Amino acid sequence: MTFLQGIAASNGIAIAKAYRLVEPDLAFDQKTIENVSVEVERYRQAIEKAKAELETIRDRAKVDLGPDKAAIFEAHLLVLSDPELNTPIEDKIKTEKVNAEAALKETADMFVMMFEQMDNEYMRERAADIRDVTKRVLAHLLGIQLPNPSMIAEEVIIVAEDLTPSDTAQLNRQFVKGFTTNIGGRTSHSAIMARSLEIPAVVGTKTAVEEIDNGDLVIVDGLKGEVHINPTPELVEQYRQVHHDYENQKAEWAKLVNESTVSSDGHHVELAANIGTPNDLKGVVANGGEGVGLYRTEFLYMGRDQLPTEEEQFEAYKAVLVGMAGKPVVVRTLDIGGDKELPYLDLPKEMNPFLGFRAIRLCLEEQDIFRTQLRALLRASTFGNLKIMFPMIATLDEFRAAKAVLEEEKQKLVSEGQKLADKIELGIMVEIPSTAILADQFAKEVDFFSIGTNDLIQYTMAADRMNQRVSYLYQPYSPSILRLVKMVIDAAHAEGKWAGMCGEMAGDETAIPVLLGLGLDEFSMSATSILKARSLIKNLNKSDMEKLANEVLNMQTTSQVVDAVNAAIK
Ligand code: PEP
Ligand code: MG
Repeated sequence: MTFLQGIAASNGIAIAKAYRLVEPDLAFDQKTIENVSVEVERYRQAIEKAKAELETIRDRAKVDLGPDKAAIFEAHLLVLSDPELNTPIEDKIKTEKVNAEAALKETADMFVMMFEQMDNEYMRERAADIRDVTKRVLAHLLGIQLPNPSMIAEEVIIVAEDLTPSDTAQLNRQFVKGFTTNIGGRTSHSAIMARSLEIPAVVGTKTAVEEIDNGDLVIVDGLKGEVHINPTPELVEQYRQVHHDYENQKAEWAKLVNESTVSSDGHHVELAANIGTPNDLKGVVANGGEGVGLYRTEFLYMGRDQLPTEEEQFEAYKAVLVGMAGKPVVVRTLDIGGDKELPYLDLPKEMNPFLGFRAIRLCLEEQDIFRTQLRALLRASTFGNLKIMFPMIATLDEFRAAKAVLEEEKQKLVSEGQKLADKIELGIMVEIPSTAILADQFAKEVDFFSIGTNDLIQYTMAADRMNQRVSYLYQPYSPSILRLVKMVIDAAHAEGKWAGMCGEMAGDETAIPVLLGLGLDEFSMSATSILKARSLIKNLNKSDMEKLANEVLNMQTTSQVVDAVNAAIK
């Protein structure tokens, strides 16, 4: 039995067999072959096996992910049947007497290079198709099984170096019971998505990929951040009990689903949910969300090969507004960059993507993308209570520039005869220290703030949120962070505005008492954290928490704050 300590990224216990989502080693030796016809036949058989495999994957993808996502496999099948690729490979085997692996790799590399150098974007994408197809055929020649997450048909725990947000979005909830990765932190987007999908996860284990083999029995303890590999039957039994207790606890919290969130001395706060797609709404309603405090629209742009149209976006925003039936919905404009990439935008690689050309910076530069989104949002505004929020605002000039673009699109739509909501609140994420420090000035011009602590903490502490080696610096209870949070809340209130928080800190049990004391108006979190937070707040006294907040703001270290909170809520 082996034990790994990682970072608890999504609550719950999962026990299942491991499924490694790891790129296999496809290295081979170039050889001279004797019998060319046997080698050509071996190549043809590998092609046939790859085709059969792709057909199954395509059919499964059609059902599970829709025809759009299945189209990519259709394109791969066409490549496999293309004589322009296959004939030169077979000729190479025949004339040069090299093994099929070498003939395939050399010919495919030549085509990939040729396509990549073309000006035409469509042809450049074909290079990616050839690379994928070659990998699949090569794996068959070598007798190696490539991981195919869409083919998983039994309960598994995914083991990976890292999962991108779009990998995570494609995990099939029915079979994927948990996941564990070598890298990542609590606020990396795959962790955030695991929470909304209610998949227990432990990230940042450093060595899960090295330690876990396909088929090993694995326990993922998303409550404590532990992973147990091939546990003893006794430990499995103990964990079944922990799982059972956790489910019972959830059933207790579920009784609060239709209640509002009021402290023991009668102070009301709003508990809202963070969502990534309209599909997440079910979870918001089931967990008694009083609104959507953050709709991360970038997921609409991911896992596809071109930008979503205005119409597609309109339908998604409308669905969320209608689904929330008049409750507030804060939609954040595109926040691409950092760990959320859009390969089809073909942006140059950056040294420090979290400090780079992302979010509002990109939108102000690539205005067509921004304007399409704003138009879709404005058109959807009549279907509910829409609030628009700009991400990563660092200066008032950026906010004013973004607001000016919004106003222009508003005027255009009105002159086209489009009906818009009378009032659409306009706010910003406060996730860059410069903006928190200047919150008093911003508060004069915005309708609300939402504090994005995932980024605010990484920028204040200068600690990459994806890097588990510096994850000890993710310190939401540090007096430095709490002081910034207080500045933002006070600045909003001084101008009669409201302040919310949509970073992971808003759903954190140790932070909530202090945030209540600091006067935070809205807490937005993974839907699955809402009922637990409501149960906690009902037992807190707001005026006691104000005293606690004043005390901890003057403390020196995070651990002093944690001790003070624990003593206060005992
Ligand atoms: C944040 O930074 O706190 C936030 C909510 O945005 P994201 O996690 O999407 O960067
Ligand atoms: Mg952020």
